[in-house]
Amino acid sequence: MAIKVKNPIVEIDGDEMARILWNLIKGKLIMPFLDIDIEYYDLSIKHRDETEDKVTVDAANAIKKAGIGVKCATITPNAARVREYNLKKQWKSPNGTIRSILDGTVFRKPIIIKNIPPGIRKWKRPIIIGRHAYGDIYKNVELIVEEPGRAEIVFIPEGGGEKRVLKIHEFSGSGVLMGIHNTESSIRSFAKACINYALSEGVDLWFGAKDTISKQYHGFFRDIFADEIEKSGDKFKNRGINYRYLLIDDAVAQVLKSEGGMLWACMNYDGDVMSDMVATGFGSLGLMTSVLVSPDGKYEFEAAHGTIVRHYREYVKGNPTSTNSIASIFTWSGALAKRGELDNTPDVIKFARTLENAVIETVESGIMTKDLMLIAEPKIDKYALTEEFIDAVASKLENSIS
Ligand code: NAP
Ligand code: MG
Repeated sequence: MAIKVKNPIVEIDGDEMARILWNLIKGKLIMPFLDIDIEYYDLSIKHRDETEDKVTVDAANAIKKAGIGVKCATITPNAARVREYNLKKQWKSPNGTIRSILDGTVFRKPIIIKNIPPGIRKWKRPIIIGRHAYGDIYKNVELIVEEPGRAEIVFIPEGGGEKRVLKIHEFSGSGVLMGIHNTESSIRSFAKACINYALSEGVDLWFGAKDTISKQYHGFFRDIFADEIEKSGDKFKNRGINYRYLLIDDAVAQVLKSEGGMLWACMNYDGDVMSDMVATGFGSLGLMTSVLVSPDGKYEFEAAHGTIVRHYREYVKGNPTSTNSIASIFTWSGALAKRGELDNTPDVIKFARTLENAVIETVESGIMTKDLMLIAEPKIDKYALTEEFIDAVASKLENSIS
């Protein structure tokens, strides 16, 4: 008998090899087991083009309403993609659009499997990265100067108060300048999102910045974090977790030396760089999940990888592929577990965990795709094709459910 999912989940379909995986997963691991109301949005590049990207906005609003979404990887078009798919224009990144509508923070979390040891031997538990996704150098203004002159930072109060001016530098020759900013409300919702996520995962929260050098800018972030932690009262203590502020360079060293098991809140640039370091340190992009959490508790789950173009080109030629579907499967299980938690339906949570265990046991029994075979210990001598892996998970899942 199919398990009833009480409230709907928003499903966002995507592009290329990720879309092939997505349909196999949905057909073999989700729909046969669940009685579920799915609100489907097709964000394939052609459909975004046909709807002038309206479908992306509709999908984001649907997540706002339903509370839970799952998303397949999508193409963010560049000039070459515009030619390849004959697009009307270079549409914006769907993830960017959805993130700004939900005003969310992205958390990236690796999946840990016994016979896939991380590159960093000491890491035993996930290191979750929370990246502040607003401002700093990602919303900068820059200027190259080619002659001597004086550069200033100027603030003009809207209410007609006194202008504030600071000298940046007196140039004696050519050079370069940059202006960056952030807002208290954005930093505050980031800190709140990190605190909530650390509480829901039951892991310590670390935040690193360089407040010894940037006493005001980085100090502003540090103080807001401290303030929000203070406001959260006894919640951390009751959950048995801690908050730790570190200098960013110390944070890097401590994370590398640790066994993992923390949420590492990062300023925008640090998060951009460190999430790739952590993903690579754990082994494969196919094992990295990602969740967008809005300040009012809406969730969008996805895999951290893209549409896996190289594999798709082979697939289109009719060649066999061995593409890792694990992060995409965990996208569904993550969404279902959260749906079950919000709906108070333990059997849905149990199904999600059973699905995750089926995946992990399949890999631990030596059935895995090529990307994992290359790093597995003990070594295995044969890898599974894309569909073979999903079929192996499906049969384990059937066995554990019946
Ligand atoms: P990608 O999809 O992340 O894949 C890059 C490479 O990583 C692959 O060629 C493959 O390496 C390996 N890889 C990634 N996921 C894998 C998996 N599940 N199983 C096995 N290997 C995996 O990046 P891309 O191929 O450069 O694709 C770029 C497209 O995806 C772009 O159009 C970009 O806009 C989009 N993108 C979307 C998202 C999103 O929607 N969240 C995120 C990133 C990129 P090998 O070739 O060595 O096997
Ligand atoms: Mg990056």
